[in-house]
Amino acid sequence: MKNEMTLAFDSISENEAFARVAVSAFITQLNPTLEEVADIRTAVSEAVTNAIIHGYPDEVRTVIVRARLTDQLLELWVSDEGTGIANVQKAMEPLYTTRPELERSGMGFMFMEAFMDQIHVESAPGVGTTVYMKK
Ligand code: ATP
Ligand code: MG
Repeated sequence: MKNEMTLAFDSISENEAFARVAVSAFITQLNPTLEEVADIRTAVSEAVTNAIIHGYPDEVRTVIVRARLTDQLLELWVSDEGTGIANVQKAMEPLYTTRPELERSGMGFMFMEAFMDQIHVESAPGVGTTVYMKK
């Protein structure tokens, strides 16, 4: 079985919950365990929050979430066309944050890595960021 969906929504914080719920609903067809659903919700939530607060710090623009199911495999892409990341490797280090003043703790990528089987980040300053994850 193969099934794909794409969501495009405004980068406002209310839509973090929307994206999380929409992806959860999409994956119910896999009959996931509660733990799998919780892991995927956390990963989506972290990636979408990053797109909203870091990708588009000063303006409301569009965040795209794409999900693809191929048999029991889930692939997710969370993209923005915002600020981008100069040094992805550094940004992914645990506890690294560029926004300590927002009480960010630099744990987002750590959760995505812990809860998904694979994560890959494509990013360029001024171009934007795509986080790819699979489970
Ligand atoms: P937390 O997730 O714990 O609230 P955080 O968002 O700062 O804190 P991470 O999610 O691990 O921590 O992200 C680390 C850093 O990577 C961010 O501080 C930011 O500089 C950069 N970053 C992550 N996602 C994006 C993005 N979509 N656009 C631009 N920069 C990003
Ligand atoms: Mg984060």
